[in-house]
Amino acid sequence: MAELSPLLKQATPVVVDHGEGVYLYDVDGKRHLDFTAGIGVTSTGHCHPRVVEAARDQIGKLIHGQYTTVMHKPLLELTKRLGEVLPTGLDSLFYANSGSEAVEAALRLARQATQRPNVIVFQGGFHGRTVAAATMTTSGTRFSTGIGPLMGGVHVAPFPYAYHYGWDEQTATKFALRELDYLFQTVSAPSETAAFFVEPILGEGGYVPANSEFLAGLRERADRHGIVLVLDEVQAGFGRTGKFWGHDHFGITPDVVLIAKGLASGFPLSGIAASQELMAKAYPGSQGGTYGGNAVSCAAAVATLDVIRDEKLVENAAERGRQLLEGARLIADKTPAIGEVRGLGLLVGTEFTAADGTPDTATAAAAQQTAAKNGLLLLTCGAYSNVVRMVPPLVVNAEQVDDALKIWGDVVASVTAGS
Ligand code: PMP
Repeated sequence: MAELSPLLKQATPVVVDHGEGVYLYDVDGKRHLDFTAGIGVTSTGHCHPRVVEAARDQIGKLIHGQYTTVMHKPLLELTKRLGEVLPTGLDSLFYANSGSEAVEAALRLARQATQRPNVIVFQGGFHGRTVAAATMTTSGTRFSTGIGPLMGGVHVAPFPYAYHYGWDEQTATKFALRELDYLFQTVSAPSETAAFFVEPILGEGGYVPANSEFLAGLRERADRHGIVLVLDEVQAGFGRTGKFWGHDHFGITPDVVLIAKGLASGFPLSGIAASQELMAKAYPGSQGGTYGGNAVSCAAAVATLDVIRDEKLVENAAERGRQLLEGARLIADKTPAIGEVRGLGLLVGTEFTAADGTPDTATAAAAQQTAAKNGLLLLTCGAYSNVVRMVPPLVVNAEQVDDALKIWGDVVASVTAGS
């Protein structure tokens, strides 16, 4: 009899039967508040009726039409609709299936467009698990252990993770930008640097928001040296942070935006958006694959954009995000075991630290397990997996946030008792 590979190890024993909105129902009929949203994917909630209807309708018409031969309506419609929400000037779109593939597409584009070999990524960033994306990932060695030799040309600069450094944000930002300039002087001259890849808020790296000064610093250096500024919005995009794009919080315009996760409510779909001028520099044939821009995924994405707009999910993410952040901070105030609670919109992270300030992985894991037993599904993140993250569907309401906070308060009290 076949069994699951150990690679499919789960953090909880839950086996799901079906999902509806913010809830998952397991095979024993128990209801769970899903504050993971399939790792920030099911933003419109599980099986939103409008997404289900659009996908069903499309399945009956056309499931797959390959773009090297034919174009199909959902892909054209989605491109039009994305044009309405993307930053001005980023009016050329290319599609793939996963976040990692979007990262690779942008990497290829930047190298081909600039004819330069190097990319600079930021410490704690997560960009995926294909070999190139894993090389660019620094949110934990586990993502690239044993798969080397890794891709060449990747250099890592600091990210302004103020709590980790024990500094205020301004000091952390000055340090990060100064180190970036030092990197230019020592290992990757600007004339050898094709792109910066940065998340507007570190996702897997611990829910650490960037800031305006830091991203303005990247924008300025990108402009000065002809470097392509790539914003990885795979986890932060589509309203997740309480603004449509994560970078909307920080007043900059990127050269390339990477999209996936919240784009299609759970159907595999990703993409990159750039200016027509930049996109024209990609070599034909060097990008893409069989399934990119799948017709059913595109139809689901159009319905997702409808739901985000009609149900005002960006505004809801901002309001419910404030409620969740404030509530989680009140809970943290009651124990010395939590070093910091931070986030943007409906990305809220609680960082567990030991009495000496070092990361406390065990308590974070215990909190995740205990929460699951009590009907609240959560994830961990951070280089030390010591940050518990809450990333509910954007349709979550005030009462459901209160329910989650009630469970979370009890969980934190029980796992930190005596600390
Ligand atoms: N970039 C970011 C910011 C992500 O959060 C992720 C997934 N967690 C990825 C890229 C990779 O996406 P995928 O798992 O779909 O390859």
